[in-house]
Amino acid sequence: MISIVAPAYNEAKNLVAFIDAMTPVLDSLGEPWEIVFVDDGSRDDTLGMLLAARANDPRIKVVSLARNFGKDVALTAGLHHARGRAVIPIDCDLQHPPELIPPMVARWRAGADMVVGVRSKRTEEGYLRRTSAKLYYAMMRRMNDVAIPPNAGDFRLLDRKIVDVINDMPERTRFMKGIFAWPGFKTETIEFQANVRAGGQSNWSLFKLWRFALDGLFSFSTVPLKIWTYIGGIAALGAFVYLLITLIQKLFFGIEAEGYASLLIVVLGFNGLLLLSNGIQGEYIARIFEEVKGRPLFVVGKKWGFDEPAVKLGAASQAAEPASRDVAS
Ligand code: UDP
Ligand code: MG
Repeated sequence: MISIVAPAYNEAKNLVAFIDAMTPVLDSLGEPWEIVFVDDGSRDDTLGMLLAARANDPRIKVVSLARNFGKDVALTAGLHHARGRAVIPIDCDLQHPPELIPPMVARWRAGADMVVGVRSKRTEEGYLRRTSAKLYYAMMRRMNDVAIPPNAGDFRLLDRKIVDVINDMPERTRFMKGIFAWPGFKTETIEFQANVRAGGQSNWSLFKLWRFALDGLFSFSTVPLKIWTYIGGIAALGAFVYLLITLIQKLFFGIEAEGYASLLIVVLGFNGLLLLSNGIQGEYIARIFEEVKGRPLFVVGKKWGFDEPAVKLGAASQAAEPASRDVAS
């Protein structure tokens, strides 16, 4: 079976078109399939439309989260519920072309464990966004142990063994680009041209993008934490050299050190650096704090299409718990 995982937040406008586009493509694969929709606490009629679609076609399954958890967590919830031998996360705003699925599946059948959809041209975005994305990926490549393919999004095919590894990754900062890349295995890329969003609006503000970029950096690299040893070392060395110069000037040439301005620059500059390094440590401490709390990643409000035994065997103490209170550990 092949599983599609589609997180949906306020996508009522797009769902019918999305399902209409997906069904024939999936039917052409010659293998049973399911679409696992994750309703990420939508405020519009997304859930109602998903249930109507499910009434038409029981291969459509629905997980409804108890509130809006954000796209990456919604995707994680979907991965936990998908049963297929291959799992394909896809956005349901039709930005990811369903026609790419058959070639992805073909590559997977030919032996690839992961087939990553890579956006060939980012034409729909402005110059600034494109260049900053490029710089960002270049920086990530230098700072990380895992190679994150540039311009790759969540649209990709994952073999079951990769999904199982990802489901075992408990971190709360779900930087999916990095998480997908982390397990390794045989990875191939396939190019596609991203469409413009079919309806509604993307939820990305500039500030959100900035936080997202930082998340990627801080959750997949410790370079920002360690670099201060070197910055501090170089600064101290510079100060020492300057001290020697000043001493020599004074002792041998009788030159008084002048320097109200230079003093001020050094004091301000280094206080700035100290605060910056503190702030970066704070970013890591905040993440440690989030991880240590060990809360579940998501809370499922209700789900349809996942038949489970009513009472879990050997779990008498849990029998009082409603079956729908399912959380990921
Ligand atoms: N999405 C979600 N929860 C959110 C925001 C978005 O599940 O809090 C879903 C959304 O419905 C869509 C996908 O994630 O299917 C991508 O969202 P969007 O189009 O806003 O992001 P972009 O395409 O700009 O990266
Ligand atoms: Mg989109």
